[in-house]
Amino acid sequence: MPFEPKRILFEQDALKYPLGKELFDKFKTQQLEFGILKSHNRVTEIPGKTPSQAYYEGKNTMVVGVKKTLKFESCKPSAHYQLPLVTGCTGMCTYCYLNTQLGKKPYVRVYVNVDEILNKAMEYTKEREPEITFFEGAATSDPIPVEPYTGSLKKTIELFSNHAYARFRFVTKFTDVDGILDAKHNGHTTVRFSINAAEVIRKYEHKTPRLDERVEAARKIADSGYPLGFIIAPVILQAGWKEQYADVLEELKNKLKEHKNDKIHFEVISHRFTKRAKENINSIFPENDLPMDEEKRKFKYGQFGYGKYVYDKEELSDMEDFFRNRLKDIFPECEIDYVI
Ligand code: SF4
Repeated sequence: MPFEPKRILFEQDALKYPLGKELFDKFKTQQLEFGILKSHNRVTEIPGKTPSQAYYEGKNTMVVGVKKTLKFESCKPSAHYQLPLVTGCTGMCTYCYLNTQLGKKPYVRVYVNVDEILNKAMEYTKEREPEITFFEGAATSDPIPVEPYTGSLKKTIELFSNHAYARFRFVTKFTDVDGILDAKHNGHTTVRFSINAAEVIRKYEHKTPRLDERVEAARKIADSGYPLGFIIAPVILQAGWKEQYADVLEELKNKLKEHKNDKIHFEVISHRFTKRAKENINSIFPENDLPMDEEKRKFKYGQFGYGKYVYDKEELSDMEDFFRNRLKDIFPECEIDYVI
């Protein structure tokens, strides 16, 4: 299900690029709100008075723009640099890590100067040769729902396939992967899928595909020979969690039978929250029942001066044993990068 925006807004400069022009021609005849932005990087055309309305309208808006600042942010520890092809995401997950980063109207912005962005990535790579440089394509976005419109991931994957010292990786909860299945990747791009228990997805990961659909997309990616990974997150330790996550692993086992001896990577992250994130979530989703009771968690100081609420040691150790044992049973060759 590629993104179907309710409104699309173009920066003037985007129309100077072939992709910008192509998207303009494609969308101008469709039944949606359509506009040209008056200034770069200032989007004032999105309505929404309450926090929930602003959020909803933002999420239904696509901005077609130009990435002017070509200084890439670092992306430690998973990669050296962020590769900015898209910012924002069409999903509406209650606990999204982007909720506190993208402002009150979190629109999706696709960049049309892809060649300039990729040239810059190659410059960064050159500086570090012969070390390998890793780029993360989903640091502030989920790039898959807009891929059918831009083809930017495919372009990136094919460029990286030719470079001995550059690697690309991104993570998604979405399933619009058909456009990249036939890309020449040379094993230089790793695709990771973020998954969760079906019940958790249903309750908290609004506007995203179901678990079985994500795993089916992952199977297609593995069949196409891409290195594959899964992020199981956030693991919510609520009543019945072992059964719920056992079902997730069963789904992986059934759909990825042919790949059980592949070196699939797994990252498992328990649910945690900060005070600021909790306030933000409660303003956007006033009816949410995400477990965020400080009394039931342990407070842990974070590296940037703010703390987060995590599960206690025994719960985390039980969770770690559960995932490490089960994953190794199903995928003996897998790599468990961390369970935290
Ligand atoms: Fe956020 Fe990922 Fe959900 Fe998108 S899919 S809203 S990036 S958590």
